[in-house]
Amino acid sequence: MTITAEHFIAGQRSKAGTHRFSAQNPATSEALSPEFVEATLAELNQAVETADAACEAFAAAPAEQVALLLESIAEEILALGDGLLERAVAETGLPLARLTGERGRTVNQAKLFASVVREGSWVDARIDHADPKREPLPKPDVRRLLAPIGTIGVFGASNFPLAISVAGTDTISALGARCPVVVKGHPAHPGTSELVAGAITRAVAKSGLPAGIFSMLQGVSHEIGTALVEHPLIEAIAFTGSLKGGRALFDAAAKRPKPIPVYAEMGSTNPVFLLPGALQERADAIAQGYIGSVTMGVGQFCTNPGLVLGVEGPELESFRKAAAQAAQAAAPATMLNAGIAAAFEAGVKRNSSFSHELSRSATPADPQKTQASCVIFSTDGANFEKHHQLAEEVFGPTSVIVGCKDRAELERIANHLEGHLTATIHGTPGDLLEHQWLVQKLQRKVGRIVFNGFPTGIEVCAAMHHGGPYPATSDGHFTSIGTASILRFARPVCYQGFPEAALPPELQDANPRKLLRLVDNQYTR
Ligand code: NAP
Repeated sequence: MTITAEHFIAGQRSKAGTHRFSAQNPATSEALSPEFVEATLAELNQAVETADAACEAFAAAPAEQVALLLESIAEEILALGDGLLERAVAETGLPLARLTGERGRTVNQAKLFASVVREGSWVDARIDHADPKREPLPKPDVRRLLAPIGTIGVFGASNFPLAISVAGTDTISALGARCPVVVKGHPAHPGTSELVAGAITRAVAKSGLPAGIFSMLQGVSHEIGTALVEHPLIEAIAFTGSLKGGRALFDAAAKRPKPIPVYAEMGSTNPVFLLPGALQERADAIAQGYIGSVTMGVGQFCTNPGLVLGVEGPELESFRKAAAQAAQAAAPATMLNAGIAAAFEAGVKRNSSFSHELSRSATPADPQKTQASCVIFSTDGANFEKHHQLAEEVFGPTSVIVGCKDRAELERIANHLEGHLTATIHGTPGDLLEHQWLVQKLQRKVGRIVFNGFPTGIEVCAAMHHGGPYPATSDGHFTSIGTASILRFARPVCYQGFPEAALPPELQDANPRKLLRLVDNQYTR
């Protein structure tokens, strides 16, 4: 499978820059060929300008043509075969089985969005008919729908090289909303990005849609990413990564003469609450599931359960013992890249200065293979309240168990939690009734509340919400996973007094697409 180290700009390949970089195989620490070059500002400008020029034709494209494009992207990705997976394994150190599953998720997600676009009701069409006889003033004819906002800048994430990267939810949902996309590939997996960008480019060419609706540029410095955010023709940014990176892009977007939204998913510690009835019934089983969740994907998930809270007692002690044993048995594994492994080590060091190391993998991690051990910390509620750093995310297989002296302390800690993507409650139905206050509290703090499960593993579906109050995301109203993520890239436009024939089909009385619409305050097809 040939990788040419070129960018894709509106269907053409390009390589004008001189700033070189290579991907590294984290399992062997070897540089991978070929060398890539960072895109130039002229290349970025060309990508964004051709995208902008395509906006109106794309916005007017029939839904069927857009749905076929998304299905064709899925087919082209599958057609890349094992070569895509082999390159992704080499660039990320993720196991082949995991990446095979992730490719399935990526392809199925594109097909799911195709079905959403084809069905079409997501545009939330609303019609209020005119009433010329209304007193004291006639009522005008008012209709609205969600319309595409323009060109979207997408930042690929390092931890999902397929499902949250070049053809990930951000790109697919933006194209589904009929918004052109300019992707800045993640510098840790440029070969994977190029292969996937080639697949999307072939699908766009087959679709008959303007080539400008998709470009992918490689970059290794912050300069090209910042320039993408600052480009005056970019209308919104989608990002998954660190709080530092997401916040920098958010601030850059806010400083533009015309500020734009940045939909940044920046991770969280995902608190897990262990209620007394559940601990009494199954402390061991919860501990096994917890360590499984902490070590899944070497802990490199934004939904990793990094914080566990319970009231001190013999049952919490049993949980701790079982968790410590399971952590010892967990084998060290290769992280995504040396930078992430170094950040993990620094986070573990920081937490060990504020809390007690309860347990770690019995087998030492091999730095030549960029490995990380599972490390579990333990502390009491008073110490946790004193050292707010313990509540901050450490990206990797680590977590902090907090034993509160009583329910009042647990309640106070819950009260002071920052925004998170998820929270989990382990309890019996009786526990849940007694702890209604906790559910009420968590509704204000997180985007998804999991009962008797674990937060890792996000279902891609209509009801999923993967977003939470800051600092988990920059805008907790929106999700970055699941079909509702399309709403980030559309805004309401209202048509008043328009003749029927001049309205978009979604708003015509005949309802040619048979959408579910709100017509004179009644939902109807
Ligand atoms: P990152 O450092 O946030 O980088 C993600 C992307 O944003 C990269 O393409 C990076 O490009 C760009 N970027 C970051 N800071 C920028 C800035 N100031 N200006 C312009 N562009 C910027 O994330 P990462 O490299 O994937 O991993 C680093 C850390 O991020 C991890 O240790 C972890 O804490 C966190 N992370 C979180 C999630 C999550 O799910 N929320 C996922 C992955 C990682 P350049 O590097 O080329 O500039």
